[in-house]
Amino acid sequence: MSETPKLSVVIPVYNEEAVLPTLFTRLYPALDALGISYEIVFVNDGSKDRSVALLRQQFSLRPRETRVVLFHANFGQHSAVMAGLAYARGEYVVTLDADLQNPPEEIGKLVGMLDQGYDYVGTIRQQRQDSWWRRWFSRRINKLREMITPVRITDQGCMMRGYARSVVTALNQTREVNTFIPALASLYAMKPIEVPITHEERFAGNSKYSMYSLIRLNFDLITGFSVVPLQLFSMTGMLVALISAVLFLVLLVRRIWVGSEAEGLFTLFAFVFFLIGVALFGIGLLGEYVGRIYAQVRERPRYIVEAVLEDESNALNRRAQDRVGQELYR
Ligand code: UDP
Ligand code: MG
Repeated sequence: MSETPKLSVVIPVYNEEAVLPTLFTRLYPALDALGISYEIVFVNDGSKDRSVALLRQQFSLRPRETRVVLFHANFGQHSAVMAGLAYARGEYVVTLDADLQNPPEEIGKLVGMLDQGYDYVGTIRQQRQDSWWRRWFSRRINKLREMITPVRITDQGCMMRGYARSVVTALNQTREVNTFIPALASLYAMKPIEVPITHEERFAGNSKYSMYSLIRLNFDLITGFSVVPLQLFSMTGMLVALISAVLFLVLLVRRIWVGSEAEGLFTLFAFVFFLIGVALFGIGLLGEYVGRIYAQVRERPRYIVEAVLEDESNALNRRAQDRVGQELYR
């Protein structure tokens, strides 16, 4: 029976045929150089290109260190990482993007920190190589998150992170949908630390995130970790209602003292439009939370695994672990 590895590296893969060959040639030597036992868990998130073929080929080259989890459809990056965490067996887990924006050579740095007893190693990108609007957008959203959620991470965007087993166990027990793994992990960690790492331009291929999905992700981050928006909204509602009540009284008194008047019609329109805007925003905000609850109560599986490629001793080992896991939960 093969022993459990010291380190698991979890990598989500979605249409990454352009970067995978280079990723393989850099990642394996970098991990070999660490001199510890390791496994790499690739999670194919329903790629439509040659990614699966490349992963299969790599698996046949390094079967002992490679495990490949295949989804039958695209479930999103965070579902893929969650699956990777569930399959990872290592004492430490490092998550990494496939696109080589975070150099695999830096994994040793994270492992060093985990060795020192930290259970969550966050990362701060040095000279971030992304488009200006993404940098601007993420600075703003970082500020907002700091203000209204308990999550304290300097740089939320970078997925390269290291987790100790205790944090991974807590993550695996989380049943929340549409969550944000680094933020969640930072809440579970008892001894977190952050390290600077270099950041490179995407090696090849395109970003899988559009402006739309970035906005979605950040809505999840805010509404998933805080009800402050709702509270702020009810506060605003209270204030607006109070002002409206005063205005109503003023108009009533004027109606009695001055008689009927039709001036100020456009002021009234402006006022009404403003209130409609506030009301629509509030409905949208409520919708965000209701949507989260809706996704949660459906209790659908977060992902469906079509197949797992792993060598026989790894598979046996995992099945033994699964049994222990089931007994623990009973
Ligand atoms: N990814 C995924 N499923 C998706 C979108 C992305 O597994 O639906 C993976 C992708 O293959 C990459 C990582 O998530 O390994 C980050 O994606 P990307 O580099 O496009 O995001 P960005 O760096 O632009 O935020
Ligand atoms: Mg990227």
